[in-house]
Amino acid sequence: MEAINEKLIDILKNSETDLEEQFKKIDSVCEKNSLKILNAFKNNQISEIHFNSTTGYGYNDFGRDTIEKVYAEVLGSEDALVRNQFISGTHALTVGLFGLLRPNDIMLSISGKPYDTLDSVIGIKDNDSSLKSFGIIYKQVELNGNDFDGGTIKEEILKEIPKIVYIQRSKGYSTRKSINIEKIEEIVKVIKSINDKIIIVVDNCYCELVEEKTPIEVGTDIIIGSLIKNLGAGIASNGAYIAGKKYLVEQIAQRLTVPGQGKEVGPSLGANKELLKGLFMAPSVVSSSLKTAVLTSYIMEKLGYDVEPRFNDKRVDIVQNIIFRDKEKLIKYCQAIQNNSPIDSYVLPEPSDMPGYTDQIIMASGSFTQGSSIELSCDGPLREPFIAYQQGSLTYEYGKIAIINAINSILE
Ligand SMILES: *Cc1c(COP(=O)(O)O)cnc(C)c1O
Repeated sequence: MEAINEKLIDILKNSETDLEEQFKKIDSVCEKNSLKILNAFKNNQISEIHFNSTTGYGYNDFGRDTIEKVYAEVLGSEDALVRNQFISGTHALTVGLFGLLRPNDIMLSISGKPYDTLDSVIGIKDNDSSLKSFGIIYKQVELNGNDFDGGTIKEEILKEIPKIVYIQRSKGYSTRKSINIEKIEEIVKVIKSINDKIIIVVDNCYCELVEEKTPIEVGTDIIIGSLIKNLGAGIASNGAYIAGKKYLVEQIAQRLTVPGQGKEVGPSLGANKELLKGLFMAPSVVSSSLKTAVLTSYIMEKLGYDVEPRFNDKRVDIVQNIIFRDKEKLIKYCQAIQNNSPIDSYVLPEPSDMPGYTDQIIMASGSFTQGSSIELSCDGPLREPFIAYQQGSLTYEYGKIAIINAINSILE
């Protein structure tokens, strides 16, 4: 390990005292969310029998069905689909959209262009199996800075009522801010007052348990997220969730499995215990991720870098941006994060093409679960202004060690 730069040592001296207020706020949300989750375990009388699992068709998977009730309670929804048959967050978003949309329906995204991997799903990028290829019409309203463009959204909806209004909360690989729960609450009121049948679908990836309220609790209809992010706490080996109105969740389940079978099938294949344990640990792991992000933001700002969010901003998700404005520094930083990860620490990540993404991407992910980004990970597309998207850390201590070494590596 390299010697730590004097300037960095100096910044670190006061860091945790300066961050006391932020850390206290994070602890407070963690406590409230922990209570919510414990209550859901108690109310559903979780016991060892729920760790049992099924194979084959997966009929009568008592554990799986109860996990879905626990999730619904935690997320404030009528129902939930929590399944390891979902390959990823993108897969769950895909199944959700295909489950709800029919030919000639309109999908209106009101948070600008969705996450890169959805380009081929929607048909923004040509694909013979896209929503577009099935005759679904896609429209998009750009954000106005970091906020919804209420006027244009109203106009678009009044022109022709969309079946789905789509909101992506976390910024993905964009440079905008992530969208907090208050902004969602406001725009939901506007949309529902025009037509309350519009289904509001939220990509909730990276936002779970960061705030106290969920988008369902402010009136959206469906939320979707990955279990190798916040709610899986690094314990779930794969999967995703979809939660919301019962009839919509049921309709989506018919698409995930088989029309006529829906939620009744889908073997849990031994995953029930880790899904429950993951959810139980999630508030604490999200808290560790947030503290790692806040410390990173604080140090990098002191070193003169632009960061988003700033250390004392109210956070919506676990993602921390560092704007390097320098290709080599972005690469070096990601390589050092990899080098301070528990798995594949000796591997030197290089920028490369990734399925579903347009630019080359540098990706540090020394995680127990492949692609898990609730474990410390850092990536960024190789394009101006060379932004690192860092997220996760199973504990604050491991996060702190890694980011200090990574920052040190770009100071030499
Ligand atoms: C991570 C993420 C997804 C889903 O990504 P997968 O890698 O497919 O799980 C979708 N939207 C946003 C905003 C994300 O951060």
